[in-house]
Order: sequence, then C-alpha cells, then structure tokens
Amino acid sequence: MKVFKFGGASVKSTEAVRNVANILRQQNHDKVMVIVSAMDKTTFALEDLLSAYESNSPKLEEKYNNIYDFHWSIINELDLVSNKQAVYRLKSEFDKLKSLINPNNIADSDFYATVVGFGEIFSTLIIYYYLKKVGFNCQWENAGDYIITDEKYCEGNVDWELSMQNIIRQLEPQFQQCDIIVSQGFISKTRLGKNSTLGKEGSDYSASIFAFGLNADELTIWKDVPGLLNADPKYFKDTQMLTRISYRETIELAYYGASIIHPKTIQPLQNKNIPLFIKSFKKPEDEGSIVHSKTYADFLIPSYIFKKEQVLLSVSARDFSFIAEKNISYILTLMSDYGLKFNLMQNSAISFSICMDHKGKLMMDFISELQKSFNVKYNEQMELITIRHYNQKIIDDLIGNRVVFLEQKNRTTVQLLVR
Ligand code: ASP
Ligand code: MG
Repeated sequence: MKVFKFGGASVKSTEAVRNVANILRQQNHDKVMVIVSAMDKTTFALEDLLSAYESNSPKLEEKYNNIYDFHWSIINELDLVSNKQAVYRLKSEFDKLKSLINPNNIADSDFYATVVGFGEIFSTLIIYYYLKKVGFNCQWENAGDYIITDEKYCEGNVDWELSMQNIIRQLEPQFQQCDIIVSQGFISKTRLGKNSTLGKEGSDYSASIFAFGLNADELTIWKDVPGLLNADPKYFKDTQMLTRISYRETIELAYYGASIIHPKTIQPLQNKNIPLFIKSFKKPEDEGSIVHSKTYADFLIPSYIFKKEQVLLSVSARDFSFIAEKNISYILTLMSDYGLKFNLMQNSAISFSICMDHKGKLMMDFISELQKSFNVKYNEQMELITIRHYNQKIIDDLIGNRVVFLEQKNRTTVQLLVR
C-alpha cells in the first residue's frame, strides 16, 4: 500500500489531471491512497471570497463565478458532463458553497474551514470521476470522516487516537473492494462533526497521517520540482538536489523555513520508518529525493534558507537595568498572545533582540504594547540566512559586503541576519 499526495500545481489543469491518471497507471496492482490539494490557487481564491463576504463587497458574486468557471472548464474538458451523477454531485457542492456565502447567511464558528475546504472537495470529486471514467476501480472518501481535530478550526490539533481508529476500522477495509481511494488533504472535522483544517499547506501532513494509519510502505509527494533542493531556486543560482536525506535533517530544514514540505509531515513517517519520496509529476520516472532514517549523506551538501522581510527588535529596560528571565518571559508571552513567532533571539546584559517576519499592523501593535514598558528599537528590511553544513568560505561568499546584525552558530547551522 502506498500513499500519494498531489499538490495544487499537480492538478491545476485538464492536462495535469490526465497526468495524475498516467502516474497511477504505472503503479500496476499496488493499492494507493491518493490525497489531493485544491486545484492551483483555489484555496487563496476561497480566502479572497471569504473576505469579500465579510466586507459585503460587490465583487462577491464575480469571485464566486471565477472559482466556478475555472473548475467547470476542467470538468467540461475532461468530458465529465456526460456522467449525470458526476454533474449532479459537483453542482450540489457548488450550490452549497453559494448558499453559504449568501449575504443573509450567518457565519458559524467553523465558517472559515467550511468555505476554504471546498477547494479540496471540488478537486477530489473531479479526479475521482475522471479516474473512474478511464477505468480505475476507485472510491471517494471525505477526509473529515477520518481525520479528527480539536476545536481550533483553522489549524486543528489532530486527535490521534480517534483518527487512527477511524482509519484502521473504517478506511483500510475499503481497500478490499477497490484499488484506489481518493481523498482530500488539508481538511478534517472536529469531534463534534464541525469542519476544521490542519492549517495552510497542510495537505502533506494529511498524507502523512493517512500513511501512518494505513501502515503504508511509502509516501510519495508529487511536486513541480525534481525533488528536494538545497535552496530555493528563486534566491539561489546553483541549486543541487538532496537525493538522500534523513528525517531529522528534513525537519530541521522545514523548521528554519525551507518551504519544502509542511513541517508536521515528518514525525509520523519517522515513527513508523515510512520512507518519503519527493518526485516530479512532470518526470515521474526520475528518482527524485528520498527521506529516510539514514543520516550519512546529510552533511554532503550545504543547504540554504533565505527569509526576506525580516525585522530586528531590540528591547531594553528604561532604567538601564539587566534584561533577565522575568522580562524575557513577559516579552515572549506577549508575543505569543499576539500570535507572533520569532525566527531568532539573542540577549546581552541590557538588551534582548528578536528577529521575526514582518507582520504589518499586528507587529506594530505588539511593538506599541512593548513600548509601554521598555525601550524598543526596530530595523526593517533585513534578511535571515540559515546555512546547514556551512564552512567559512560559504559564509564569506554569501555575505559579500552586506552588514551582519546578528549571528548564531552551532556545529551544523549558522544563522546570519544581514542587510
Ligand atoms: N489547499 C491548501 C492550501 O493551499 C492545503 C495545501 O495545499 O496543502 O493551503
Ligand atoms: Mg499546496
């Protein structure tokens, strides 16, 4: 049994959906759990629809129509309209979305999750009906019937016990009747049956939860890049592929901000020693990257993570006294109350420095609140560079003539805040 995860780019057009079928055809007789994201940028479009609903925008209907038209052009091109059941099912899901965003409708606590979750419902229904049409023995399941979270609707914490019970007792036996089960990434339900999500970009994590529950032999994430790269090609010229890399290293890279896979994806896989393959859906026969337990190759290629739009806050006491545990604890608690996260911190006798993403008004409100008790200075437009498996030459080449404001090093990782 395998679990395949197809992200938004891998299902963004008619061609892409056909390609999913081709990839599955190459699996011969293996059973495959197929986890799919929303098509292309649909999740953003749904969030945008939500803001239009909340602000009573006159653009609301137009935004809904754009989402509808995008999907229906794919449905038409795949010739799913000749299947009455498919048309009925898809139409009724679109009707549900339309009535939800009716200005007279009063939003429920799980409103966000319900609305944004439609992207995955649409994409999986389209893929399911297409796979059936071209001869696969497959089934469609709602991920929310299996993955259960707490009441944090937008970024639920998984209830592992309940979710595993559902997957083992209700989902796995269904593979006796079919070869492929198509279900959604990202979406889940609460214990009380309300809609929730696992958080932005959470589909990788969904796939990993299913892989864990089904004791899969492997999880493959199909992407539009050939595998895991040692840097984002947007910011770095000579990227190299990390063909073999450990769970541990992957978690570290995701933690420092490499946008490779959702950071929560690795732990379940690591616990059951399930290998993770990252492959290109454009070249499915290529090897791609494999993430597994062996650490021997981790240090061979340095990795680079660039975070732009960083802000450096320097907090000091008004009376020039030491910044000690009490102040730091106050500052960090306040930060967490504001929902802000730090990327790096450092303290000296009289000042405490925090590097974080620029969060606009939210961050400015936090700074104003801090200024009630401390002197706060801040510098914007910085860049945080993290290098794993560095050496001095790499650091020097990368910094060039930029100024380093903060630096932190351990044996494997150096972090430099520069401008
Ligand atoms: N569709 C969701 C998102 O865009 C989940 C995912 O793609 O992983 O965040
Ligand atoms: Mg995605």
